[in-house]
Amino acid sequence: MKRIAIVGGGASGLLVAVNLLRKSDACEVTIFEPREKLGLGLAYSTKDLEHLLNVPAGRMSGLVEEPKSLCHWAKVDENDFISRNTFGKYLEFLLNRELNRGKKLEHVRSAVVDIESKGGLFNCSLENGTLLSFDAVVLALGNSESITPAAFDGLPKSDRVVRDVWREGLSTSYDRVAIVGTGLTFYDIALSILRDRPSAVIHGISRNGLLPRPHLRHRAPALPVPDIARESADGIRRYLTSMGERWREAQDGTTGSDLERSVERLVSPVRCRKWQPVLLHPKRSGQHRIRVLSGIHFQRYG
Ligand SMILES: Cc1cc2nc3c(=O)[nH]c(=O)nc-3n(C[C@H](O)[C@H](O)[C@H](O)COP(=O)(O)OP(=O)(O)OC[C@H]3O[C@@H](n4cnc5c(N)ncnc54)[C@H](O)[C@@H]3O)c2cc1C
Repeated sequence: MKRIAIVGGGASGLLVAVNLLRKSDACEVTIFEPREKLGLGLAYSTKDLEHLLNVPAGRMSGLVEEPKSLCHWAKVDENDFISRNTFGKYLEFLLNRELNRGKKLEHVRSAVVDIESKGGLFNCSLENGTLLSFDAVVLALGNSESITPAAFDGLPKSDRVVRDVWREGLSTSYDRVAIVGTGLTFYDIALSILRDRPSAVIHGISRNGLLPRPHLRHRAPALPVPDIARESADGIRRYLTSMGERWREAQDGTTGSDLERSVERLVSPVRCRKWQPVLLHPKRSGQHRIRVLSGIHFQRYG
């Protein structure tokens, strides 16, 4: 019997465990996760039902061989955006289904602080000094802590200054709140504050002053991506610029959403490869605008 350790029990760790349990009777699986519940991690532990997935339900199945699994479980359409809290319950369901079939999983509530490879085994050290050996290890450590830019070093330590909102939480009792960064977290936090305190004034501050675009209900087919857009950062820029012109022309017409949808679909595959230097060093590559476009089109809210 092979012993497999999964370090980190967020969505990724849980799904690795579920798939191992489904596909093999010849392994013992142990998950190391300090949190009480498996599967929630950072993204799905929110209790606010207005915090939605930013990917439609039809693309969030936890099982490759059952692409409609989430839609069937949640009884929703594939284009619906369900709450992240509900998605966490779906992950729990997937795991419990395997456990109810008699599959075994051990959840050790500790962080792994070190891993050493010795004699063909992986020795995992826990916080309390315990050492456990495994035949294989999966690292599913997930989202690291957010980095606060040095410019904010002078801010006092205070419960009115939140540096990492998903880890520290936020009181929704203030009248005026400034949120630095206007990505998807901005929407979630602003929604929670305004629901609890409708008179609150929220200032969203970002370098470009743009907000993520909403997902479109209308599913237009993706446009084919020409080779030139895949070859160089400049090719991407020229292609997107031409798209942008067509798109602006169509803004008032009924085809506007088709084109917008296509840009959204197009940005995703292209950005994976040649976009790396552009996304990581936008100023150096002179492609700041592409990074901005990618941010608001790719990371859409549900
Ligand atoms: C606010 C927010 C919203 C998101 N919304 C979506 C969405 O709608 N759709 C989508 O597809 N993705 C979304 N994401 C991305 C999301 O994070 C991933 O889809 C997914 O949750 C990542 O899961 P994970 O298990 O890799 O990481 P995490 O959820 O970060 O889980 C990692 C786990 O590892 C544990 N861990 C870390 N280090 C150790 C250690 N040394 N020992 C033991 N345990 C350890 C942590 O305690 C944690 O529970 C969102 C992310 C955030 C932050």
